[in-house]
Amino acid sequence: NPLMASEKEAALAAAPPSDSPTIFDKIIKKEIPSAVVFEDDKVLAFRDISPQAPTHILIIPKVKDGLSGLSKAEERHCEILGRLLYTAKLVAKQEGLEDGFRIVINDGPSGCQSVYHLHIHLLGGRQMNWPPG
Ligand code: C5P
Repeated sequence: NPLMASEKEAALAAAPPSDSPTIFDKIIKKEIPSAVVFEDDKVLAFRDISPQAPTHILIIPKVKDGLSGLSKAEERHCEILGRLLYTAKLVAKQEGLEDGFRIVINDGPSGCQSVYHLHIHLLGGRQMNWPPG
């Protein structure tokens, strides 16, 4: 949406319906280029366009199935949720993050979520701080 001045403003807007398409559908269909680092039949991992760490990768399900965010998870999503987390581990290893890394799932306006297609952020390559912002 060109009226959105920033990711933060997008994040503060009301959450859309859980079946609404997002920019990630276009990334999955390769209609928008992305730097893919891992792909199989169920998940896609690609570099975040606005990296917040030397390694910043998003891991997403190829089929959204109502999973606009973690708060929409149902029992049927347990398998894909596990696969996304396991993929984060594989990609962390592939990226050489032996000293550690962080995974983040933003949910809803208060969680600063801006894209309503579930995604795990994998961040690494620098010292993380706690608490997060
Ligand atoms: O957790 P949140 O919804 O804020 O994360 C969305 C992420 O998607 C942001 O880090 C943003 O940089 C990224 N993004 C991207 N490519 C796009 C649109 C958003 O990597 N075309």
